[in-house]
Amino acid sequence: MKKSNTLVKPKKKLGQHFLKSSDVAKQIVDCLDTENIFSILEIGPGMGILTQHIIDLNKNSYFIEIDKESVIYLKQKYNGIDENIIEEDFLKIDLKNFKSSIAVIGNFPYNISSQIIFKIIENRDLVDKLVGMFQLEVAKRICEGPGTKSYGIISVLVQAFYDAKFEFMLEPKHFNPPPKVDSGVISLKRKKDLKLNCDENLFFKVVKTSFQQRRKTLRNSLKKFNLSNNIKEDVIFDKRPETLSVKDFIHLTNIIANENISA
Ligand code: SAH
Repeated sequence: MKKSNTLVKPKKKLGQHFLKSSDVAKQIVDCLDTENIFSILEIGPGMGILTQHIIDLNKNSYFIEIDKESVIYLKQKYNGIDENIIEEDFLKIDLKNFKSSIAVIGNFPYNISSQIIFKIIENRDLVDKLVGMFQLEVAKRICEGPGTKSYGIISVLVQAFYDAKFEFMLEPKHFNPPPKVDSGVISLKRKKDLKLNCDENLFFKVVKTSFQQRRKTLRNSLKKFNLSNNIKEDVIFDKRPETLSVKDFIHLTNIIANENISA
């Protein structure tokens, strides 16, 4: 007789919204192109609905779950993957422990989804691909380009290093318990050229500072860089951050870097 498992009781503080349909789970895993991928990391396997389809890919896969109850459930449900289940906080894990290139996948806990994305950006040399479920608003923000309402820091920083694609939307009814918001699945694929054509630390600072006041012109927002009047004549400073593409931000970073060198 098949051993029956008691189900994991959803915990709100861990962002647990379990997917109900294995077909939907497969649709998500199918968005991952595993070419050139050596390790797959699933964040938050929960009761393992995505996990089954990830195992079917026959790659080195690791399942990182913070919730002890889910870990016990997973170990009962899937024989032979015990060693690949890691009971830890994904945000604290050193990704250098996994052989690259890495693909990250998951129906992410929404309370830490931005932190997951920032960790991916920090580890962009290791992480080649990502397929993830986010709350719809965040999924859109990551994928949309300049001139849209949701375009912001996370859009520019992700799109500087990854091609982002919005895959599909999911309504709350697909989850147990249903979240209050719609959800969206996105995929990221690292760009061939990982290096930006500018000082990358300065680029991060310029993007973050520009969006601190998204309704203001860059001339106003970037005051703390002490730019000379001469430089500020450039028409780019008349613009608002939400209208600048990644390329424009690189250009802006170079203008600011040159000024600092010649100052
Ligand atoms: N993949 C499952 C569960 C998604 S819910 C499904 O689709 O049904 C999000 C999962 O992330 C939960 O299992 C939760 O326990 C886990 N989680 C929350 N915070 C985490 C963290 N910091 N590190 C790893 N897992 C986390």
